[in-house]
Amino acid sequence: MEKQKSIYKKLIKFLPIFLFLIFTANYLRNNSTFLMPKEYKTIKKLVNQIASKNYLGNKEIIFSVSSGSYMSWNAKDLDLCKAEECWYYNNLNPYKKYKNVKGISINELGNQAYLYGGIEAYAWKGVVWLSRSTFRSYGEKIDYLACTIGHELAHIIFNDHINNSIKLSEKLKNLGIENNNSHNQEKEKNNKKEILEKELTRESEKKADFKGAKMIVNAGFAKNTCLKELKFLTQFEKLETETSRESTHPGYLERYESLEKSIENYEKDFYLKSFKSYKWRWQYNRKMNTLTFLPIK
Ligand SMILES: [Zn+2]
Repeated sequence: MEKQKSIYKKLIKFLPIFLFLIFTANYLRNNSTFLMPKEYKTIKKLVNQIASKNYLGNKEIIFSVSSGSYMSWNAKDLDLCKAEECWYYNNLNPYKKYKNVKGISINELGNQAYLYGGIEAYAWKGVVWLSRSTFRSYGEKIDYLACTIGHELAHIIFNDHINNSIKLSEKLKNLGIENNNSHNQEKEKNNKKEILEKELTRESEKKADFKGAKMIVNAGFAKNTCLKELKFLTQFEKLETETSRESTHPGYLERYESLEKSIENYEKDFYLKSFKSYKWRWQYNRKMNTLTFLPIK
């Protein structure tokens, strides 16, 4: 009896240490950049390289690896959601376990998305979003992945929404259709507006290609890396080579020609002479499924 009591006493004595260890292990698992999934480690490595020779602004930039649109298309086909609600599946955390929905395994769907989802990335409200399948699709071609990250970073850093919006209203004014009241005229205005919006978006895409490619060249990659990536992307995703009026992205030929022309004459050494280095830190959050780049002001 006495012996048992002393064991309990010892256990109670060590309880704070046990709790501390559990708390620390949990904290490290959720926050340590050493324990992040490999895709996040790749992002950190590439962005470190890019930021060492490019100013990425003074705001935080969030990176998130998600499941991708393969998930939402299939969730829709499998009747797991109403069409307008299926976007939810795009952004599902691919590192998490999910309960079945209507007898369908969401994790199995996630595995398929990883295999067949292909290359997919976008920038939205300060977040660089990449599907997990993007990393599998590029495989060893880490320099191509750098181009995609550079392109999305360019969208965030050189956000041209206001300029584009002003350009759009000017163009609409020039067409003399800014103040129409009749139903038909309203319809015509919306159609023209949509076409003009797409045109401006395509211009932004070409700018992001060039600005992104410059960052990649500054970071030490070969000058033609992002041109090679454009070709790889078009081949891999079977993208259109011709530009369509209805599309948000220019076709491969236009995109390639535009980037080739602009990057050809780019003087990296001239830029690097005036570049001032700066500091940043990283914050990983497993629960939010994010990795944040934080410039130190
Ligand atoms: Zn883009």
